[in-house]
Amino acid sequence: MEQAAFESGLYEICVGDSVRKNEPMSEHTTFRTGGNADYFVIPSDRNIFIRLLHYIRQTEREYFILGKGSNILVGDRGYRGTVIDTSGMMNNVSIEGEVIRAEAGAGLGNVANLAAEASLTGMEFASGIPGSIGGAVFMNAGAYGGEMSQIVTSVEVMDASGKVKSLAGSEMEFAYRASVAQRENLPIIAVEMILQRGRKETIKERIRELGIERAKKQPLEFPSAGSTFKRPEGYYAGKLISDAGLSGLTIGGACVSPKHNGFIINLGDATSEDILNLINEVKDRVRAGFGVELVPEIKMIGEFQGE
Ligand SMILES: Cc1cc2nc3c(=O)[nH]c(=O)nc-3n(C[C@H](O)[C@H](O)[C@H](O)COP(=O)(O)OP(=O)(O)OC[C@H]3O[C@@H](n4cnc5c(N)ncnc54)[C@H](O)[C@@H]3O)c2cc1C
Repeated sequence: MEQAAFESGLYEICVGDSVRKNEPMSEHTTFRTGGNADYFVIPSDRNIFIRLLHYIRQTEREYFILGKGSNILVGDRGYRGTVIDTSGMMNNVSIEGEVIRAEAGAGLGNVANLAAEASLTGMEFASGIPGSIGGAVFMNAGAYGGEMSQIVTSVEVMDASGKVKSLAGSEMEFAYRASVAQRENLPIIAVEMILQRGRKETIKERIRELGIERAKKQPLEFPSAGSTFKRPEGYYAGKLISDAGLSGLTIGGACVSPKHNGFIINLGDATSEDILNLINEVKDRVRAGFGVELVPEIKMIGEFQGE
């Protein structure tokens, strides 16, 4: 399909200013880096999201589903496809008894705070993770002994044939930072979670404590995407990086955070290329020092300089 025809199809599905062209992805990633996406669309509800997915799939063009951009690195030369931003408008949340239903783009922190207000416990662990519900289910995000797999009861997804269906939590094949949605690249539309009744003040206090703990240990004052690497079995990525003497190692504007060696941070003027080069340097030096292969947790999309 021709570019112009494709574009007018996007405008037909989305209304007004929710279709953008040449959108700087540095404004949509917590690394604050990345070139332009050819198209950037913000569906206002789940039906438009579903129509967009059907349409783009049918044109056989590239697309990428964006949550809050807190676990991605976008190449400096940008992305030749359509980014579908779920977190812009598709973020309704409802609570009924102990059950929380959230559209994929709802912020994890937001949902955790709403749960606390409703005196529901079980989601405190997620309060400081700066992602969306959809991104958190996709990644099976976790912290402080909790992870999404423990609270998710069902997930509305679109399968490869375009059918919208509901998968039970037990069908999500959750594992460490993995899910069936990630393995099979299934768009997540909405998520249902179940929590337990608790004491509001205790829940809020736990959220506050975890926030303090995070700020103490993590370089939250710099842009990053959290832990850069997955935890290798039997090791901690941060400890390996520290033992390899790489704390503070800098390439361009990218740096191995001296505060938390598992984080690569943007000192202010990093490019995605700097970050990628630093990731590769850290991987090489940890492999050479300890024979351990570090695997990035962050997802890379788009075109990098060397390509
Ligand atoms: C300071 C900081 C601290 C962090 N701490 C933690 C932590 O403690 N624990 C942890 O697990 N992570 C942590 N992270 C990483 C990150 O926040 C999580 O991985 C989060 O779940 C990513 O969600 P997101 O919405 O930002 O996803 P994005 O970064 O937008 O996307 C990540 C992946 O999920 C996919 N995706 C997003 N939404 C959907 C959807 N609706 N359907 C299908 N696919 C989708 C994307 O296509 C992409 O492949 C941290 C990050 C930062 C910056």
